[in-house]
Amino acid sequence: MDIRFYNTLSNQLETFNSIEKGKMRIYTCGPTVYDFAHIGNFRSYVFEDLVKRYFIYSRYDVKHVMNITDIDDKTIKKANELNSSLEAVTQQFIDAFFNDIAKLNIIKADVYPRATQHIDEMISIIEILEKKGYAYQKGDSVYFSIEKFPQYGRLANVSRDKLNTGLRSDADEYEKDNIQDFVLWKGKKEGEPFWATPFGDGRPGWHIECSAMSMKYLGEHFDIHMGGVDNIFPHHENEIAQSKCSTGKPYVNYWIHCQHLIVEDQKMSKSLGNQYTLADLIDRGYDEMVIRYLLLSTHYRKLLNFTFRGLDQAKKSLMRINDFIFSLNGLKPVEGESETFSDFIKENEIGFKKNMNDDFNISGALGVFFEFIHYINLHMDNLKKGDVENILAYIDRVNSVLGVIKQSSSDTLEKQIMEKITLRERARQEKNFQLADSIREELKSKGILLIDTPDGVRWKLEKK
Ligand code: AMP
Ligand code: ZN
Repeated sequence: MDIRFYNTLSNQLETFNSIEKGKMRIYTCGPTVYDFAHIGNFRSYVFEDLVKRYFIYSRYDVKHVMNITDIDDKTIKKANELNSSLEAVTQQFIDAFFNDIAKLNIIKADVYPRATQHIDEMISIIEILEKKGYAYQKGDSVYFSIEKFPQYGRLANVSRDKLNTGLRSDADEYEKDNIQDFVLWKGKKEGEPFWATPFGDGRPGWHIECSAMSMKYLGEHFDIHMGGVDNIFPHHENEIAQSKCSTGKPYVNYWIHCQHLIVEDQKMSKSLGNQYTLADLIDRGYDEMVIRYLLLSTHYRKLLNFTFRGLDQAKKSLMRINDFIFSLNGLKPVEGESETFSDFIKENEIGFKKNMNDDFNISGALGVFFEFIHYINLHMDNLKKGDVENILAYIDRVNSVLGVIKQSSSDTLEKQIMEKITLRERARQEKNFQLADSIREELKSKGILLIDTPDGVRWKLEKK
């Protein structure tokens, strides 16, 4: 079965064909490390993780690169506001980012290149662009001339008569109705870090960073490039222009963009106080896996309206999966295996794949999986040992895509409970009593009572 999805570049659904057989090379735009990442960012990162996991599940050898933007307008502004060095400020948020993605069970990229460590690569591209006549110097800065690249505007679907040729933008981000020559290299300014180059002291523009780092680690022509929809213009449009014009080759075959997340029907903003970080939600007693579940369960091309009611709903759905695994592990089945169940697993997995192959239709895929849980729950008493093993192995395959259960589904009941207890202990030490209480409640709902003793926490099964 082929994987089909929507390619922003062609504006249509396309069947995926990799450049190199069996391999998939992907670049995802990473964090600009001037602040803690918010749940909007995590929507994009979790979706990218889902796509990557699905390719791995589909037996592709995946190479994933995600950049870290540690120099741009926003990082410099933040360092100046805090009267601190760029390195100190960005390092704090880089550490936080890695902490957060581990909590959300996001598989790490193969490389996390940092912009400040790839200045030479950026300079080389700019030099080539100048030599080929695509870039020009004006004052202390170097700009890309959009008029020289006839395909400019194709990704963002903008007509060429909207181009303000001859005008220039020095900002990293700007609006679509003001399309101008964009900056590749910014001349040195008071209070900004700078590097010495053949075209003068200064620092890179944001867009050149991603061209340099993607091509360095994935080659000049690779399969997939992802980011949130806000990245389409100007960031990705400019990346295409710089990369294609410097190499003279195609750059990326498929562009996938994740729609935004809003909070309780409103755009996220600092002033509304709804720009939640992962820590904010954990502090309110929500489990990391529940947050992940919520973020991935809306189709990526739909706006995701994040609500606390939605989180409670996600908690219930995830609990159904966890309860199911719990029940399976608690069975004492007789030896043997039946064809009815192995056929049912095969059929269900085909349904799961069919949905995922159809533009990553996650709602459909989850629906198929919940039908599976429903059916097996009804026939729990008829399962033999081999059936239980096959079912647990299937859950592990589904979870290798979803990543919503941290442990292996075939871990013993004892081990699963102990992990929950450790989590609760950690929450208590961190004085996160809400989370600690919610873990106790979750266990209680499964008939497991926790008893605090001087020697630590013990558990027992509640008598029914
Ligand atoms: P940034 O750190 O702002 O460069 O953003 C990192 C990633 O998060 C990019 O792929 C953005 O497109 C994405 N992103 C930013 N805001 C949102 C949002 N509200 N919803 C979904 N993705 C977002
Ligand atoms: Zn980027």
